[in-house]
Amino acid sequence: MKLFDVTIIGGGPIGLFTAFYCGMREMETKIIEFLPYLGGKVSYFYPEKMIRDIGGIPAITGEELIRQLEEQARTFEPTIVLNEQVVGLERLTDGTFLLTSHNGEKHHTRTIILATGFGTLKSARLDLEEAEKYEGRNLHYTVETLKNFSGKHVLISGGGNSAVDWANELLPIAKHITVVHRRKEFSGLERNISNLRNSTATILTPFVMEGLSGEDDQLSSVRVKNLETEEIQNIVVDEVLVNHGFSIDLGPIKEWGLEFENSSIKVDSFMQTNIPGIFAAGDIASYQNKLHLIAGGFSEGPTAVNSAKAYIEPEKELKPIFSTNHF
Ligand SMILES: Cc1cc2nc3c(=O)[nH]c(=O)nc-3n(C[C@H](O)[C@H](O)[C@H](O)COP(=O)(O)OP(=O)(O)OC[C@H]3O[C@@H](n4cnc5c(N)ncnc54)[C@H](O)[C@@H]3O)c2cc1C
Repeated sequence: MKLFDVTIIGGGPIGLFTAFYCGMREMETKIIEFLPYLGGKVSYFYPEKMIRDIGGIPAITGEELIRQLEEQARTFEPTIVLNEQVVGLERLTDGTFLLTSHNGEKHHTRTIILATGFGTLKSARLDLEEAEKYEGRNLHYTVETLKNFSGKHVLISGGGNSAVDWANELLPIAKHITVVHRRKEFSGLERNISNLRNSTATILTPFVMEGLSGEDDQLSSVRVKNLETEEIQNIVVDEVLVNHGFSIDLGPIKEWGLEFENSSIKVDSFMQTNIPGIFAAGDIASYQNKLHLIAGGFSEGPTAVNSAKAYIEPEKELKPIFSTNHF
């Protein structure tokens, strides 16, 4: 089994930039990501949203940012492993680490950088027996591409931020939007809720989805029920988007003996956790006045890499070196 200098757990924006910086320090690098794709929360929740708070980039979609980060990360050809959740940690007698994934795969590494965000992301599934048949077809939990919804009748179920935002976002391109929510009130930014209420969308509250029907794995009609009057309506649909929340879970990493504060891992100014050789960057790293923004993680990643480099080769420079020196 190849021994890597550093294994980055998590292929979100911070894991990707961290991998690039590892290459700058000539470290053999591996990224392990649970999802089948890179980009973390950006790819999962908001690939088509405009990001406007990264210095030097006035506006960029999430998808384009991740495309560029991936290109940058691949500069030094790190090993990238997808579809694996790291669950086990073992410290070997020589001080190196053996990581185990949920499927039993093993990864040998000198140091670890945790770029796990708050953990692995899973959307809350629609709690109806027939749902599975339509998942991956026209029953969605996230918006991968707006094009899928263009000119279609879209039913959105949910009443939180995501449901309200997607309803507003899809209104100009969809043929019609119906929003179904089990409560009368929506939650989210007042401005967005007003936009939705004043739009052409049909709003059904307090309603829940009660049954699905369709042909050949294509969902074509949704049965909804009014929770007060028990009135039933059948709504003909082209696409259904369910935003019933999501879970984020660090899983067994919580049992590794790391010190936590505010559900995140405590680090010092070197991004060192309480376990020597394990560092953290991005959303999972906790310290005073922490900013949960991509721009913040872009500085934490290189700090963690420099610390990991100094951990492996104590005589090496801990301070960052300008990128122009490396090309
Ligand atoms: C709706 C929304 C909008 C946002 N808008 C902005 C914005 O406009 N600007 C901004 O700066 N920030 C924004 N943020 C915050 C930003 O997305 C996060 O700060 C950023 O994604 C953190 O990156 P990360 O790489 O640390 O973690 P994440 O993006 O969460 O990536 C972590 C990755 O680690 C993987 N992982 C976790 N555990 C394991 C494991 N055990 N094994 C393998 N893989 C694992 C996860 O699957 C995930 O892909 C927004 C967040 C949300 C939810």
